[in-house]
Amino acid sequence: MDISVVVPLLNEEESLPELTSWIDRVMAKHQFSYEIILVDDGSRDKSWAIIEELKKSNNNISAIKFRRNYGKSAALNVGFAAAQGDVVITMDADLQDSPDEIPELYDRIMNKGADLVSGWKQKRYDPLTKTLPTKLFNAVTRGMSGINNLHDFNCGLKAYRKDVVKNIEVYGEMHRYIPVIAKWAGFTNIQEQVVQHYPRKYGTTKFGAGRFVKGFLDLLSIFFVGKFAKRPMHFFGVMGVVSFLVGLIITLYLICHKLMSIAAGTPFRDVTDQPMFFLSLTAIIIGSQLFLTGFLAELVSRNSTDRNNYQIEKVI
Ligand code: UDP
Ligand code: MG
Repeated sequence: MDISVVVPLLNEEESLPELTSWIDRVMAKHQFSYEIILVDDGSRDKSWAIIEELKKSNNNISAIKFRRNYGKSAALNVGFAAAQGDVVITMDADLQDSPDEIPELYDRIMNKGADLVSGWKQKRYDPLTKTLPTKLFNAVTRGMSGINNLHDFNCGLKAYRKDVVKNIEVYGEMHRYIPVIAKWAGFTNIQEQVVQHYPRKYGTTKFGAGRFVKGFLDLLSIFFVGKFAKRPMHFFGVMGVVSFLVGLIITLYLICHKLMSIAAGTPFRDVTDQPMFFLSLTAIIIGSQLFLTGFLAELVSRNSTDRNNYQIEKVI
């Protein structure tokens, strides 16, 4: 099969018939063999009934329904597990993304060597309250991940080589960072494609303003986990050593100062009367705490089932 289209959806009853017939049109025109995997993320409207109806007339459609709402990442993860196509395309169900982009996305994966192609909504039809923080957000993500060629990490329209989706795990609200996850997993050919974006036609957005706070925290987690999950002591230990050393140097300075003052017979302030003393005390305590945290984290990661889980590309 050429293409799997994975569509996570939450309460999108109005959009589904239009979306599936549009995808079908594009696929038929380019003679792709395809499947549409609709993942109903616990909709409370008539989405599922409509999906059942759509499936009767188009047997390329398959669907999975969550019993409750788990979030877009969970929906994508399940869709990825089910996908069979050589190229896996994800798109939002709300008709903001255009299926007309599919042929070019497919071409880039199959013929231009891309592992992942991310859409870039260069011209967006969203309110300023959303586009402005998003700009900042993308800049920070670019800086932290080193993926400098992406403008729009969170675009719902993306294409993946099948290998990619079978080897990454999207959980929590990590769907915003799939390119980063893919890069950590060793898929480095990440490309971008300018895509058409439309205003939401039906319904309302499913993410509130909290998305920015959560998104930022997730970025920190992903960075930490990606870099240090298999060697947490390198993270905590370095900070611990620095803090401990700072404390130690100040302590030595205080002791020398006192001894020299005694030897010279000059008057001196009590050690505990000096602000430096409290600095050194705090630094040493924090330093040892960081060390202990590092040891605990090592024990935790030693126990994790995927401690020796590596991305193996080929074996002959
Ligand atoms: N969505 C989902 N589960 C959720 C929230 C959203 O499956 O918990 C789907 C939603 O139905 C849509 C896509 O994720 O297909 C993107 O959501 P939305 O359009 O609300 O996000 P926005 O365009 O505002 O970023
Ligand atoms: Mg949308």
